[in-house]
Amino acid sequence: MPIVRVALDVPLPTLFDYTVDDVVVAGQRVIVPFRNRQLLGVVMECAAGSELASVKIKPVLRILRDCEPISSKLLILLQFCSDYYHYPIGQTVMSSLPARMRADKPISVKHEFHYRLLNSAPHVDHIPKRKTAARNIVATLALHSCTLQQLKTLTASAATQLKWLSEAGWVESFEVNPHEVEPCSHRFANAHKLTNEQQQVVDAVTRASGYCCFLLHGITGSGKTEVYVHLIDRALRAGGQVLLLVPEINLTPQLEHYFLSRFPVATLVSLHSGLSENERLHHWQQAQTGMAQIVLGTRLSVFAELPRLSLIIVDEEHDSSFKQQDGLRYSARDVAIFRANQCGVPIVLGSATPSLESYHNALTGRYAMLKLTGRALADANLPEIKFVYTKQTVMVDGISEVLLREIANRIAKGEQSLLFINRRGYAPVLMCTECGWLSDCKNCAGKMVLHTKDQRLRCHHCGWQIRVPTLCPECGHPELLPVGSGTQRVESILTDRFPDARILRVDRDSTRNKRAWEVMRSKITANEVDIMVGTQMLAKGHDFPALTLVGVLNPDSALYSSDFRAAEKLFAQLMQVSGRAGRADKPGQVLIQTEFPDHPMYLCLQQHDFEGWAASQLAEREMADFPPFAFQAMLRAEGLVEADVYAYLNRAKLAGAKLNHPVEIFGVVPASLARRANYVRAQLLIQANSRRVLQQFLRVWQPGLADLASNKLRCSLDIDPLEF
Ligand code: ADP
Ligand code: ZN
Ligand code: ZN
Repeated sequence: MPIVRVALDVPLPTLFDYTVDDVVVAGQRVIVPFRNRQLLGVVMECAAGSELASVKIKPVLRILRDCEPISSKLLILLQFCSDYYHYPIGQTVMSSLPARMRADKPISVKHEFHYRLLNSAPHVDHIPKRKTAARNIVATLALHSCTLQQLKTLTASAATQLKWLSEAGWVESFEVNPHEVEPCSHRFANAHKLTNEQQQVVDAVTRASGYCCFLLHGITGSGKTEVYVHLIDRALRAGGQVLLLVPEINLTPQLEHYFLSRFPVATLVSLHSGLSENERLHHWQQAQTGMAQIVLGTRLSVFAELPRLSLIIVDEEHDSSFKQQDGLRYSARDVAIFRANQCGVPIVLGSATPSLESYHNALTGRYAMLKLTGRALADANLPEIKFVYTKQTVMVDGISEVLLREIANRIAKGEQSLLFINRRGYAPVLMCTECGWLSDCKNCAGKMVLHTKDQRLRCHHCGWQIRVPTLCPECGHPELLPVGSGTQRVESILTDRFPDARILRVDRDSTRNKRAWEVMRSKITANEVDIMVGTQMLAKGHDFPALTLVGVLNPDSALYSSDFRAAEKLFAQLMQVSGRAGRADKPGQVLIQTEFPDHPMYLCLQQHDFEGWAASQLAEREMADFPPFAFQAMLRAEGLVEADVYAYLNRAKLAGAKLNHPVEIFGVVPASLARRANYVRAQLLIQANSRRVLQQFLRVWQPGLADLASNKLRCSLDIDPLEF
């Protein structure tokens, strides 16, 4: 009897054999018995026979024929991920699918409806001028049939308009056969004439036949987005699908709206964690049928089925949110590159501050380097960056007089200021002035952060919280002092200093509510805010025309961090946040408060010199034998008993050493947060001078690891880790 090999959501590195008495193809979903349960699985292979004794093989219970099978291309991609990240194949496959497709129930396929103009419809000129919305819709439908979603980008009242247009017998809806989607012949909206530099970039990518990885290094405001729009347009006109990957930040809906407005007649779907399960399934299916021409998504969308994929764009490619930090610890950027190669299509990695990995690959010719060196708008200059030497300046509760004066200046001129501090809460720790007691978390090796709004001490690692004590819990002393600053404290200092200013704090606490950020953003754009205080949420990709001053409070700690990537991240963040200042016709200014104004990183930043900074970092990395000159894997373990954690990692280290591979196995060390939610955490780093050598080692070493651990430990292997 024919056999199918099925991927199941179980932590075992194998496929499972079942018999079938019906026609099945790879990629089909099936329901099978497993131990005492029924599980949904994906058929990875069909075979004539099994190595198992036939009495042991159970039959497939049910074959789901509710949607197209997963393509063999995607199955190969998933197999690659499972091999490369050393993660069980079944869990790899399952974690790539929308939840609805992993459930053991059939899914329903949502039908797609389009609207089109009927012959009976009058010419747009014959519709009264005052019916602007209806005229817009009719004019658009005259060019191309559209979905309701597309028409909603033209006018908010699209649904009502369509109702009466249908009743008048001028418009009808029809069900679309996804295989008959017309290629999009209509040009995108509001095109700018490209600058010479932009045109060269577009030409270079367009010339690529087949796979090529481009690194688009363009300063903030250089018009990378405009380049994407032109490239997407070409791909759509050739009948292709485009995958646009963006970081996991609250910008996604905004970007979606922006691209919808640029491509009013294309079908764009988003894929990100903010969607409901039904939406995610529906969008995934639209990608799968080829209906969706543009898929805009965060890292998980790299696994979307895209039968006519013809271009991949990774925006802000340096962003660490492309790396998944649990389960299948993949880098969506790296998987995207593999995928582009597999499909023989170009991929563009865009950033103002590329990751050193990508930049190094572009310097050495593995990727093609493309540059945008000037701002797209002729009169938009890069901001002037200055430093405030905190040791020689009058400081008011951590904010320098100079900065406060500049803020006052902006308020007087009706311009906006942004104070950037990467710490939420009021103060990062509370201290007793008598005995030195600190607000340690009882569960973690970290401190509890003071939140004054609700008078709580809260641990940002495990969520544990208590009321702020009035007396020192150690010695009973009544004076407890907040040490250091967070966004709330900066907000309150500013409120004291500028009682009439409109101050807005933007951090994870103030934007917990889904709509909150939307409301805040529209206030900022309407210039109803004078000063913003925010964390990195405010650093990325926003365009606030009235913002002319950015102050950065105390970013120094990253310069002396034990994480060798901390300085790279800080540079990128400061470039980003500086890029917020003066994007329109008003010049921008950036003031950075620091104890080390002569640090080489700050000097490069002042010159807007990414190249110089990257060159010095790369030289340091090469000397120290760090990535991108070395390839790493991190084995992590955590458990309630410290001795178990260390014993396991030491056994793993010993087992690795015995294999005699040309890899370097470092010592077992505590994780940077050595205890979290009562779990002791430690790690073991493996390093090699080539990816191939590292993978060869992992292939023999990894399968034995499970036997070394007691089942009380949580262990994981992280390939190309970003967190140390
Ligand atoms: P980036 O993504 O590199 O930060 P954007 O694409 O957002 O830059 O462009 C910055 C600004 O310049 C935007 O307001 C955009 O509309 C404008 N812009 C981009 N390209 C052009 C062009 N060729 N001509 C005129 N304006 C442009
Ligand atoms: Zn005390
Ligand atoms: Zn904690």
